[in-house]
This record gives sequence, structure tokens and C-alpha cells, in this order.
Amino acid sequence: MTRPNIIFIMSDDHAAHAISAYGSRVNHTPHLDRIADQGMRMDAVFCTNSICSPSRASILTGTYSHVNGVSSIWTEMDYRVPTFIDALRGTGYKTGMFGKWHLGEHGVSQPRGFDAWKIFPGQGDYVDPEMIDEQGSHTVPGYATDIVTDLTLDWIDEVGDAPFVAMVHHKAPHRPWIPDEKHKHLYADGSIPEPETFFDDYATRSRAVQNVHMTLADDMGADDLKQEVPAHLRGEENREARMRWKYQIYMRDYLQTVQSIDDNVGRLLDHLDARGLAENTLVVYTSDQGFFLGDHGWFDKRLMFDQSLQMPMLMRWPAEIAAGSRCEGIITNVDFAATFLDIAGLDPAEALPTSQGRSFRPLLRGEEVADWPDAAYYRYWEHDDPIHGAPAHYGIRTADHKLIYYYGAGLGVPGASDAVFEPEWELYDLKADPTEVRNVADDPAYAGVRADLEKKLAAYQERYDDEPYRGDETPRPEWGPYDAELFARVEAYVAKIRQTS
Ligand code: CA
Repeated sequence: MTRPNIIFIMSDDHAAHAISAYGSRVNHTPHLDRIADQGMRMDAVFCTNSICSPSRASILTGTYSHVNGVSSIWTEMDYRVPTFIDALRGTGYKTGMFGKWHLGEHGVSQPRGFDAWKIFPGQGDYVDPEMIDEQGSHTVPGYATDIVTDLTLDWIDEVGDAPFVAMVHHKAPHRPWIPDEKHKHLYADGSIPEPETFFDDYATRSRAVQNVHMTLADDMGADDLKQEVPAHLRGEENREARMRWKYQIYMRDYLQTVQSIDDNVGRLLDHLDARGLAENTLVVYTSDQGFFLGDHGWFDKRLMFDQSLQMPMLMRWPAEIAAGSRCEGIITNVDFAATFLDIAGLDPAEALPTSQGRSFRPLLRGEEVADWPDAAYYRYWEHDDPIHGAPAHYGIRTADHKLIYYYGAGLGVPGASDAVFEPEWELYDLKADPTEVRNVADDPAYAGVRADLEKKLAAYQERYDDEPYRGDETPRPEWGPYDAELFARVEAYVAKIRQTS
């Protein structure tokens, strides 16, 4: 059988609830919906550390942040941890990477393992962006989302008969949300519905969560809004009116940048049809993590609430995925690498022995897998950074519950403070409280549930070789790219996997 091509389209900060296939109340994305209609909508895909660089490193390597070294946007990826790209290229796949890379010091390391690549330095710009390739750095005229798509289509046409994997990494809809001119007429002021939890008062929530600097009311500023807040909306007494005013501007700009992604995904799907490639190509659409779209009064991500934790994931591959299918299996971004290798006909344990993930290819075929994990383990390492003030935490999410531990201390991530506060727990009953507004960690009725989840959390930390927080005794994830300690951990992990497989 001809090995399938893989097109991995990943946007940046695109929450599932801004895709109509996921029931968005705020926009329509007909081309993304095409992937869902012709393939599968995955409903329980979660990132393992909800920020840009860590998610990218986890996807490439199939490992958690404490293994690949990218615990924050300031820490360097350990390039000795192999990637699924290396493994595919080693078996004859052509490999291409276009758009936002955001790995390495200041996000400008050169991609490794690609036959062709062209990336934005760091976060990248929306209009006439600077791009880097093997020839150096230069300005590319146009709109970033169109450019990344054009580069991909040109490369697909040049690649020849070999199977290929294309990483199509859009900058949108990441801050500062600069739309293409042609979408600026969309979403008239006042037309975008506010989320149910818009005026969340954070009652029952941890102090850590109550104090994050991600509120529309007080933390979204003139840079994000491209204008100053008018005088009549300032002050505590105008808080609600100010939030409403900011929300319409924020969401208008965000959704306009999403519209360009949707157009360009349509263009890419049409191109595959025109070239006769649709049947034998796996098309994936995802985002490096979710985003708060005014939910809980916030923007940004980081926290373990579902709007941030969930990654949208739509997959089309007519050979194995039934049109219009759904998957509720719990999957994380650490599982992607093993899955792509499996789809390419490789044994993930052989091809990428350092991977901590598991192939979910059987779930794509609609098969029941008896021992499939019933939880996702999450860890956010940055602590109390001066911009967002989000606390370090870890936790576990099952289909029914979520347990979160804010362990209350900095771990030496560069740029973050070493602020310490009392550790706090949150527990959410996702069936009774799907919007996660009622913390029941200290509710006696949930004591048994909490005890079971604490055990499960410990078991998952052991499974993934992560260290629970133990004050100053805890190892700090601040290794550089050639750190002996990390190297020893990776080697030990490989040895362990080889023993047990
Ligand atoms: Ca991101």
C-alpha cells in the first residue's frame, strides 16, 4: 500500500469553541467543518502544558515538558530528544515545515529534520512578516496565513512521488490579532454573544486562580485593543460596561483572523482535490492549545480549565476514518507523534523509543480499546510570571472530573517570580458543573472522588516519570540543551521502555 501523506495544520491559540463543527456560538468555519464532516471530530484532546512552545515540543517529540526540556517559552528544547519528523524522514518521507516554529532560545532555533522549511522568528508578524530559511532572513510581502498556505501548496507540488509530511503552522489567531483587510467588515459591534461565565465572580475558586492577570476588565490593555479605553468606561463602577466593550473588540479581531485560517484551509483542501491527493492524505487540523474567549471573564490560556486545556482536533483520512465520526477517547498532544508514525506504517516503539505517547489510530477506526487511558495528566510549569500571573499547577482530567493542585511556589523558570503561597486544590464535577464554576475540593460529598483522583494523579506522575512538588527538593526544569541530567533521564527512560515493551 502507498504510504499516506500527512498534512498537519496547526493554528496558534484557536479554541475549539470558535469552530462551528464544535458548536461555536460566535462564528462559522465552513472549511474546518468540511474536515469534520468528511472525517472525525475529536472531543477530548488535551494539551499537557497550555502554552505555545511546550505544546510544540510535546507534539514533535511525543514527550512531556520535563523530558523535552521545554517547560516554558523561555526554556530550550533538548534537541537530542528525537522527533517523529526525524523518524519519518529516515524512512523516506519528505518533510516540510512552514510558519510558526517558536522553539529554541527566543523561539528562533532552526528546525531540524526538514527537507524544506521557512519559519517566522519568535512569535512572527501578521502583515509582511520576516521569515527565516536556509538562505537567511527576509521580508515576505502579504498576510501571514495566506503566505504559510502558499508555501505549503508550492512545496506539495514540488515534492514528487515520495510520501510527505507537511507541518503547516499558522500564526493566527495568536495575539495581537491583526486581521486581513478583507475580513475587517465581519462581526459588527455588539453582534458577538458573551459566554455564559462572562461575569464569573470566582467564588469557591483558589486564591491562585482569583488573582491571575488575564481578565478582560483589568488586564487587557491598549496594545491588545489597538486603542485606549475611553474615559467613561474606566473605574470599578464601569467594570461590566468596560468588559462588554473590550469583549466585542477582542473577539471581532480574534474571529477575523480565524476567518482567514478557515479560507486558507479551504484553499488547501481544494488543492488536494485538484491534485488527486485527498484519498491518500491524512489532514489534521488542531491548535497548540485552547484559549479563553471571555470565559470566566478571561483571555489567554495556561490554566487547566477546559477552554484552555482542550485542543480542537479534526482529522480526515478516507482510508480509515469514517465520514462524520466522533471520538470521545482521552488523548493528549504527547500521543500525536506515535499516531503519525503508526499511520505511516512504523512501529512507534521502534521508530521513536523516547515517546511517552500511545498511538490512537485504533480510535480513528472507531475501535474500542479496553485499556485506553481514562485520564489526561497536565502540568503548567511557569509560575506567577509578571504578565499573566498564572500559578504553576498540575492535575488530572477524566471524562467526569478534574482535579487541580496549585502547589504554590516558583520553580526557577527564567522570568517568573519565586512567589510562594499556600498550596490549594480545586475539584470540578464536569457532568454536574460543565462550565467549571463550582470548586468542590473541600465538599465532604466529594471526599471519595477526590481521594481516588489524588491516587490517579500520583499514578500518572509515576507513569510519565514526573516529580510531584516537594518544596525545594523538587528538581527544576531549567536545563539547557546539553544538560547531563536531562540526558541521563532520557537515556533511563529509553532503557525502561525497551525493558517493558
Ligand atoms: Ca499558542
